[in-house]
Amino acid sequence: MTAPTHTSLFPAVPDSPDAVLDGLDPEQREVATALHGPVCVLAGAGTGKTRAITHRIAYGVRAGILQPGSVLAVTFTARAAGEMRGRLRQLGAGGVQARTFHSAALRQLQYFWPRAIGGEMPRLVERKVQLVAEAGARCRIRLDRSELRDVTGEIEWCKVTQTVPEDYPAAAAKSGREVPRDPAEIAKIYTAYEQLKRDRGVIDFEDVLLLTVGVLQERPDVADTIRSQYQHFVVDEYQDVSPLQQRLLDLWLGGRDTICVVGDASQTIYSFTGATPDYLLGFRSRHPEATVVKLVRDYRSTPQVVQLANGLLSQARGQAAQHRLELVSQREPGPEPGYTEYVDEPTEAEGTARRIKELIAGGVRPSEIAILYRINAQSEVYEQALADAGVPYQLRGAERFFDRPEVREAGLLLRGAARAGAGSDPGMAGTEVPEHVRAVLSSRGWTAEAPAGSGAVRDRWESLAALVRLADDFALARPEATLSDLVAELDERASAQHAPTVEGVTLASLHAAKGLEWDAVFLVGLTEGMMPITYAKTDEQVEEERRLLYVGVTRARLHLFLSWALSRSPGGRATRKPSRFLDGLRPGSATRGTGNRFAAGTGGIERGVAAAKRKRGPVRCRVCGRTLSEAGEIKLMRCEDCPSDLDEGLYERLRDWRMEQARELGQPAYCVFTDKTLLAIAEVRPAGPAELSAIAGVGSRKLDKYGAEVLALCTGGDAGPVAGDEAVAEEPEK
Ligand code: ATP
Ligand code: MG
Repeated sequence: MTAPTHTSLFPAVPDSPDAVLDGLDPEQREVATALHGPVCVLAGAGTGKTRAITHRIAYGVRAGILQPGSVLAVTFTARAAGEMRGRLRQLGAGGVQARTFHSAALRQLQYFWPRAIGGEMPRLVERKVQLVAEAGARCRIRLDRSELRDVTGEIEWCKVTQTVPEDYPAAAAKSGREVPRDPAEIAKIYTAYEQLKRDRGVIDFEDVLLLTVGVLQERPDVADTIRSQYQHFVVDEYQDVSPLQQRLLDLWLGGRDTICVVGDASQTIYSFTGATPDYLLGFRSRHPEATVVKLVRDYRSTPQVVQLANGLLSQARGQAAQHRLELVSQREPGPEPGYTEYVDEPTEAEGTARRIKELIAGGVRPSEIAILYRINAQSEVYEQALADAGVPYQLRGAERFFDRPEVREAGLLLRGAARAGAGSDPGMAGTEVPEHVRAVLSSRGWTAEAPAGSGAVRDRWESLAALVRLADDFALARPEATLSDLVAELDERASAQHAPTVEGVTLASLHAAKGLEWDAVFLVGLTEGMMPITYAKTDEQVEEERRLLYVGVTRARLHLFLSWALSRSPGGRATRKPSRFLDGLRPGSATRGTGNRFAAGTGGIERGVAAAKRKRGPVRCRVCGRTLSEAGEIKLMRCEDCPSDLDEGLYERLRDWRMEQARELGQPAYCVFTDKTLLAIAEVRPAGPAELSAIAGVGSRKLDKYGAEVLALCTGGDAGPVAGDEAVAEEPEK
């Protein structure tokens, strides 16, 4: 068994309430011990806000001052809530509720529905956008796909800001919202949408909060029950609370002041959905007796990363900027942030994948690496590039790990094995526990090496492998523990939803990265139009974009890479410019304003290596001739909508061949060729090496290795040797 190289997932539980405070600095300690009255922590990224409130709850519980069941901790995402439950458990304070506003409200609503309203609670709408489309149709308004998404966003904004349809046009104008359609039309669709929901007896995500607020307002008996259950409230990421969430919080409190909030106005990134830092910044005037604590030591990032973060904020303007706190890194110096300019997006993605491979080869765990982008649509080109490079990645959050069928099944089997007696046999303790786990999970498809193929099989294996790693860590931390102890640990984790880390590079939007941290962070696509995003027009919207980039930068502990591409697709015109937010910060750029003391890093700007070698013209759809810009379409060599001339028999043969290759290599199938590349081959049916190498995803290395066999499959006969073909000499290595 190899010892895990990362920090143990099983730190010892502090043996006393005071020991809980040991890991805190004096200001954090002040937060943790201020258990009475209102508390507000205003502090920058990585200063330990989340750590301070988690320790505060744990200290209060361990010291017997707070009853675990009387505390409600609210965080922003399900993943953050899961992490907080995990941290609380490690500090010996399991049993405390840590939830999102939404899940806390949903639970209360489900509980009180029969008594407060009667009957069964309505179902939650699964496909809201679909319902908005139907509402549009009822009003005889046709919305295209992007309008539909934007109108849905407007309806959500109305609901969290408690704006009724009639008031929408005026409210939208007042807030300077970019309206996707005539506001009067949106108001009509909104009305029709609400009616449709009533007709169908369903409710949406926002209704959960609205209804809970309604019940608490109108039913004092229900409100009393909730208030006697929950006495203490803690809110993380309070800068992004919406008026509706604040209303709910006030109702929970019912005039009490047992609340602790933490936030950073410089990380306000949800204003567009109706959130506002006003509640955070105005906390002291609402609670003049509040304990207010500021934290400035940044424990997360190196001085190099912190310097860039401070530099970004020094250029910020507006309300949140007045409250910025300069960070002071507590860490050893590390590498300078890297800046890379690429010719086009696929090259940027390939370059990023290559760097990631280097980091992994240098010992960084894939789960300690993240690629963060502005919009989810950017993920595809990175998924493709990582797949091409054979790097495992994950898009999904880890919070539902214990709900996965294979994990539940594995849990049952391990429980059975433990019950069968092996688990309580002292001989099975220590290093034998992991071996036992491996033996049990082998029967469900776990193997020492990752299986060939991607998709469901691979996902399943990743889950089982995560359980095996967990068992390794567990045995290291508690050498005397038995299999039964491990099963008990898994049960506890399942109820706390504290998932082990699934091994893979994280792909996430900047918004979804809030509160999280990685050793290495890649901030990609940093061009004008993407960062700030084109539709950020007003100064306030641009400032929010700057804060979003600040959130991205401050996710990195050690390695930070920033990159952008001058054109979208290969051969396209290099019309793009690097983000204005990097002016004066990236090497060689003019410093904006005067007296900026945050000098640019010393690293210089790199040009993407592949960029210099790549000599591809624009890729055109081989059906309609349109110049292609989407990465997926470029791989396919046609528009997604253009008719496919797929040779299905050939596609099947290629897939079988790929499976065979992958099995021999002991690698996932996508390392041979991705699905898109295989599809393109089956559609193009290349007659020779030149045609084959023109297909995206077929570099010279792959052509050398697989060209003959693939061409033989395509032509149904033997293919000649392909190495040395002139048409491929310029193709970059992939
Ligand atoms: P964000 O604003 O991004 O949410 P945060 O202020 O909540 O950041 P945390 O996530 O609590 O910061 O802490 C950042 C990192 O610093 C974590 O890895 C945490 O464990 C570590 N850390 C915080 N305080 C200390 C401390 N006193 N000693 C050692 N490590 C610390
Ligand atoms: Mg935090």
